[in-house]
Amino acid sequence: MANFYCKWCGQKYTNVQSLTAGSCYNSPSKKHELYEGPEQRNYYCEYCGNKYSNLPNLTAASCIRSPTGKHIPYEGEEKSQYTCKYCGNKYSNLPNLTAASCSRSPTGKHLPAK
Ligand SMILES: [Zn+2]
Ligand SMILES: [Zn+2]
Ligand SMILES: [Zn+2]
Repeated sequence: MANFYCKWCGQKYTNVQSLTAGSCYNSPSKKHELYEGPEQRNYYCEYCGNKYSNLPNLTAASCIRSPTGKHIPYEGEEKSQYTCKYCGNKYSNLPNLTAASCSRSPTGKHLPAK
């Protein structure tokens, strides 16, 4: 059976209805929201590229670059090359991509496309 995770706190549910019905301490909307990426061995922060082995650990830790102050999971798969969704620059890993400045991104840093 598939598992569903909240993208803000990493809590696991067996169906989307109970996930979206629950309240979430970490979410800007105060509700759990569905993490739409794949279940994988490693999870990365979309804003800084830090790697964690599970979503609860990732979402609990502070992030210097994220708009919420916590890491937010990257919802794409692990790949050999990552592309900035604002300018198309390519990098071989997420920490390098998210650390470099981007003239087109609203945050001033590259952000990965899924
Ligand atoms: Zn949550
Ligand atoms: Zn982060
Ligand atoms: Zn960019």
